[in-house]
Amino acid sequence: MSDQTTILDTVIIGSGPAGYTAAIYASRANLNPVLITGMEPGGQLTTTTDVENFPGYPKGITGPDMMADLQSQAERFGTVVHYEYVTEVKFSKENGGLHYLKTSGGKEFQAKTIIISTGASAKYLGLEDEKKYAGSGVSACATCDGFFYRGKDVAVIGGGDTAAEEATYLAKLCNKVYLLVRKDEMRASKAMQDRVNNTHNLEVLYNHELVGLEGNLVVEKANIVNNVTNEESSLTVDGVFIAIGHTPNTTLFKDQLEMDETGYLITKDRSTATNLPGVFAAGDVQDSVYRQAITAAGTGCMAALDAERYIVEFFEN
Ligand code: NDP
Repeated sequence: MSDQTTILDTVIIGSGPAGYTAAIYASRANLNPVLITGMEPGGQLTTTTDVENFPGYPKGITGPDMMADLQSQAERFGTVVHYEYVTEVKFSKENGGLHYLKTSGGKEFQAKTIIISTGASAKYLGLEDEKKYAGSGVSACATCDGFFYRGKDVAVIGGGDTAAEEATYLAKLCNKVYLLVRKDEMRASKAMQDRVNNTHNLEVLYNHELVGLEGNLVVEKANIVNNVTNEESSLTVDGVFIAIGHTPNTTLFKDQLEMDETGYLITKDRSTATNLPGVFAAGDVQDSVYRQAITAAGTGCMAALDAERYIVEFFEN
């Protein structure tokens, strides 16, 4: 690290709703934050179309427009945004210690506080057609996109709690829901399986996998295979929801921060504090349950307030 490295009050890693909300609060509190966007500037919302459930937008807003608005709101108060990703972190273990970061562009920072809002990425099956129809019939979030499939037929892929939850949620909106489970049993909890089995317009297809999608610009048909008999068939559906889990973006922090067994950062009760002083986590990177833009924004606000209080306690007294 060079001796010239600037010491900042706050560096925010990640540019989704959590990161930008933290930036708005931190910059309005004169913490002069630097925000490092990561590889997908704007985060998961930039891959969705219309956002209709974020309070304050009665006519809805597109995901990319919302993220552009959040960014300009943060920049208006002085947040400096770098379009890079973080390649290295060394967190201090001491109260009042300085944290070190290096970026893909070779920039080095020292900071009194770090706010991690690197999010989580939905897992996909890896089919070419998932990319081809992304936002045009393929989604990884029923709460976000289910509304657009009201009265239509859809398929959900997966056999865990997320898939069961998404399928039962969609069954309330859609005409018919097919749930494709690759094994002959579901991994979801008994209670969730009971809900699935008691939903009249939800049909579980065990031992079935999605192999391809067809349609003129938007999904019209899902091609599936029975992996026991190898029999191929197709479902006439308007949407396919991939619900095979999420991966929190925390590889960079391994061995430094406490995580649960699936890699989500652990925060202390009713705060965004991680196990290290001055390091805070907000948004989906620490939330495997709610995973909404509004909840991410809420914890982003909390992280900025936590960072501000930490700085007052350990650097200004
Ligand atoms: P899980 O890892 O629990 O389940 C993933 C599911 O997707 C499994 O059924 C798995 O199949 C299937 N799957 C994985 N890869 C593929 C593939 N390539 N093709 C087809 N199917 C695939 O993830 P979840 O997101 O469901 O849950 C994550 C955690 O969050 C869990 O601990 C869960 O309990 C919790 N959760 C709790 C909720 C609640 O309590 N309301 C709601 C949502 C999540 P297989 O079984 O064959 O491996």
